[in-house]
Formats: sequence, structure tokens, C-alpha cells
Amino acid sequence: MTNLSDKLKKDIQYGLLKWFDEEKREMPWRETRNPYKIWVSEIMLQQTQIITVIPYFERFIEAFPTVQDLAAAPEEKVLKCWEGLGYYSRARNLHRAAKQIVAEFDGRMPQDWDDLLSLPGIGSYTAGAVLSIAFGQVLPAVDGNVLRVLSRMFLISKPINVAKTKKEMEALAGCLIPIARAGDFNQALMELGALICTPKSPQCFRCPLQKCCCANQEQCQASLPVKEKKAPKRELKMVFGVIYNEKGDVLIEQRPSKGLLANLWQFPGGEWHSGSEAHEVLRDIIKEKYQLDIIVDGDQIALKHIFTHLVWKVTAFTTCSVQGGCAVLSKGGTARWVKWQDLKDYPFPKVHQTIIMKVEGRKDDQ
Ligand code: SF4
Repeated sequence: MTNLSDKLKKDIQYGLLKWFDEEKREMPWRETRNPYKIWVSEIMLQQTQIITVIPYFERFIEAFPTVQDLAAAPEEKVLKCWEGLGYYSRARNLHRAAKQIVAEFDGRMPQDWDDLLSLPGIGSYTAGAVLSIAFGQVLPAVDGNVLRVLSRMFLISKPINVAKTKKEMEALAGCLIPIARAGDFNQALMELGALICTPKSPQCFRCPLQKCCCANQEQCQASLPVKEKKAPKRELKMVFGVIYNEKGDVLIEQRPSKGLLANLWQFPGGEWHSGSEAHEVLRDIIKEKYQLDIIVDGDQIALKHIFTHLVWKVTAFTTCSVQGGCAVLSKGGTARWVKWQDLKDYPFPKVHQTIIMKVEGRKDDQ
């Protein structure tokens, strides 16, 4: 597959770059060759739509204009800037990698493939994107969009979510890249996948590669790319409560420093294992964790949160109160009573932000 004729390569390069020059969308990270900014944008864009990323990117760069600023920031501030974008391990890895760049690479983004891959959160896609876009290196950057375009263009029916196929596709993409415009070519392939060669109903009549595309010739676009079926996601039932003390402060707890949603804050609660009712489970969890007796009251909200390998089915109680006694927490724990208006200072995962929004909506109605 990598021994393509020079004419075919030239046709693909010329057609795609001409289209990209005319049709590419304006994006803040496309106005720069700054490797730090390109790296941040590439990490944010993983599993997230461009329209969602733009305001986050602008806020993040304003808060941390350089890799040194990011390295020096407390993790809580980095997570707060990432709040709502999901997949928080991306933010933690970005932060750790920034520290490593400052400590080991004199604060400069490494220009060597292996050095870049040694940083947390950077795989072959991100390394290829940063090195080609910021430094013009002739390296492929193969994301899901590129896999789809290539599998259709070259009629590749191997499953694209298998590592071996991805490696072959990277080799194929690598031999298509023109030396003079490596970064633009990589971005053009991604842009074509995002705008024209879309998963459903690709617009082949508008495609600059229509004449070179085997799937278009055979009219089998809809059956490509092929993906191997993944195991269904595991479902966990979770229960959380908005708990007030006698002063009207609200209880929040920090998640463990490792694992899912590490170090983010949440309303207290946990997994709902048994066959008991949700409010009983919440009462037992709070009693066990904080030695507090609570009255579970108020509305019950049902929410769903989808992670990469897991789905949380969440039940949240909006108004719980501490029963009798004084609501004192043991010292040294990771929970605290805070004023409702101070919740904005803590990074919460999306599902808990939704609880906050729902409670605030109800407060406004009262
Ligand atoms: S011709 Fe159609 S299937 Fe082929 S690359 Fe273009 S949009 Fe995709």
C-alpha cells in the first residue's frame, strides 16, 4: 500500500492542499506555530468537538500563556480551567508533561519524536501533529478522521480500531505527505474527514479527492471504515446528595488522587451496590464516611455520565440535611463544608456541575 505512484501522490497533495487553502475553518490555534499552543489544542481536541474546545482553549491560554506558567500552576487551578471538558486525565497529563518539559528540556517543547513520546499523554498522533504543524517535520498525524478518509480512499477493510491497522495507516499517510507543507497536509486530511468525508453521508460530489478515491469508484463509502466490535461498557449505579448543615453550608468531598476523576470535587456519595433504596444507601454511605446522620429529602435527579469504559447511572438528592448534633468533620480528611456561592472555586466533574445547575435553577424558581 505504500508503493504508490508519484502521480497519484501529487494529485492527492495538490487537490487536498488547494481545497484546504480555500475551505479551512478559522481556529485560534491555526493562527500560530507556537508548539505549546498547538500541543494544548491537540490534547483538548481529543474526543471533543472543535466548537466546544475553542472557548476552553482561549481561557486556558489566557490562564497559562506559556509552558512555564502551566508547570508552575497548582493542579486545582488547571483542573478548574478544564472543568466541563471531560477526560480529566488529559489535563493532569498536560500539567505533568509541562513540568517535565521545564525540568528536562529547559522549558522548550522537544523536537525529537522519542523525547516527545516520553511525555505523559503524548502518543503517536499528538507527536505527529505537534512536530509537523509547529516544526514542519514530515511525520503523519493519524486521528479517527484520517483513518476514515484513508480507509475509503484506498479501500482498506481491516478494522481501524486495531493497533496493527493503525500502524499501517500511519505508514500510508506518511508516504503521502509533501515535504514543503507537512503540517498543512495533516490538517487538511483531518479537515476533509471532519467536513466532507463524514462518517455518515460523505459528500463525495464536493470532495477534492473524488477522482482518486476507490470507495467512490466502487460506491461502497457507507461500508467503510470497518471497526471491530468493543465489549459493552460496564454500568455502575451511583448515588450522591447535596447535604446542608445547620448554617446552610454544603458538604463537598475530594475524589482520590488516583483513578477516575482523580482530585476533582463532588457532592458526597458513592456506589449503590445493594438492593436497598437510593436514599438508604446514601444515608449509610454518609454515616460510614463522616459519622453524620442525614435526612435525605428534596427532589431526586436522574443523570447519566458516560466514560470511556464505564457508564454511571446517577441518582442525586438535592436537599439533604444533617440530623441533630453538630456537623463536625474529622480533621485531615478530604471533605469540607463550604458556602454555596464558593462552589465555583472548586473543579467539579460534569455530572456534579449538572447537579449544581439543577439546584440553582430551582433556587431561582423559589
Ligand atoms: S470521495 Fe467520498 S469517500 Fe472518497 S474520500 Fe472523498 S468524501 Fe470520502
